[in-house]
Amino acid sequence: MPRTVILGAAGFIGSHLVDRFLERGHEVIGVDNFITGSPDNLAHHEGNERFTFLEHDITRFIEIDGPVDFILNFASPASPIDYLELPIQTLKVGALGTHNALGLAVAKKARFLQASTSEVYGDPLEHPQKESYLGNVDTIGPRGVYDEGKRFGEALVMAYHRTHGLETRIDRIFNTYGPRMRLGDGRVVPAFISQVLADKPLTVFGDGRQTRSFCYIEDQVDGIERLLYSSEVLPVNIGNPEEHSMLSLAETLQSIASTRLPLVYSELPTGDPKVRCPDITRAKQVLGWEPKVPLIEGLSRTLDYYRERSRSNA
Ligand code: NAD
Ligand code: UDP
Repeated sequence: MPRTVILGAAGFIGSHLVDRFLERGHEVIGVDNFITGSPDNLAHHEGNERFTFLEHDITRFIEIDGPVDFILNFASPASPIDYLELPIQTLKVGALGTHNALGLAVAKKARFLQASTSEVYGDPLEHPQKESYLGNVDTIGPRGVYDEGKRFGEALVMAYHRTHGLETRIDRIFNTYGPRMRLGDGRVVPAFISQVLADKPLTVFGDGRQTRSFCYIEDQVDGIERLLYSSEVLPVNIGNPEEHSMLSLAETLQSIASTRLPLVYSELPTGDPKVRCPDITRAKQVLGWEPKVPLIEGLSRTLDYYRERSRSNA
């Protein structure tokens, strides 16, 4: 039975990875300090003998007993609101946390997968973004703490691969959404959904014409699993190449929810990328992966999840 360590296990993507690897028959060790995650995301595994949880801040030395086959590093604040509130913790987890995680991988001779991000491309001047694009990041802007932490993380992963021959994988994740995102984490999908549920105006930043491409969590987890088992050491973009403006996202969500709410506009946050869309040619070629869940379906499933949750909390 493979033993798999998931760092950031109580977060949105991390908790779905715990589900997936338990489903596959692994023994899973989840690690998290709950800085942006929640024990609720893992409550359904209570009593599962193949799952153990360690409450720990990975910027400190990580101790795990016994052999480990795989380490997936998903620990980091990930929403702009979170990393603006937690700038030093974000830099520390990107740098010191990744360093400790890689040290653990060397000690255990484990395969290591790093959650990187489309933010390494910053406010991109190349569109769509290929993995060969080197990016346009403002090091000292408010998003720099996240972007530079992740860029340093990629450099460190490659250094460990080249120096220690560690088996490493790098996932450049583009905007991923779905059940278990914190409704108040400020990212656009949970923000719009919480507003729809509360019958409140939708908050559009800037003129709403900036674009993102939204990948449903199940597709992202499929991509991560394929990447982990592939032999691809260089970064791979994993995201949905269908590009939407925030205005069209607001429109689509409202039509799914059969509602019509006013839009309130506020200033575009500093450094907010104007466009973002992955070129997924490499993911198709080297992983045989492409997303399957259309935005309408992913948004409907996500909305249903939050509706159900608000009913059961009422
Ligand atoms: P999340 O905030 O839901 O999950 C992150 C988890 O990491 C949380 O449970 C948090 O408590 C934990 N964590 C943070 N710092 C820690 C530390 N020092 N020690 C231990 N645990 C710590 O965010 P998410 O969306 O699930 O993102 C997970 C990973 O994927 C992050 O590394 C993020 O950068 C990356 N990513 C996500 C997206 C996306 O669209 N969701 C896009 C690009 C990259
Ligand atoms: N956004 C918005 N309204 C909100 C939250 C976000 O218009 O209530 C916009 C934000 O300015 C950005 C896009 O939605 O252009 C995606 O933001 P998010 O925080 O989800 O992720 P990002 O891709 O910026 O990291």
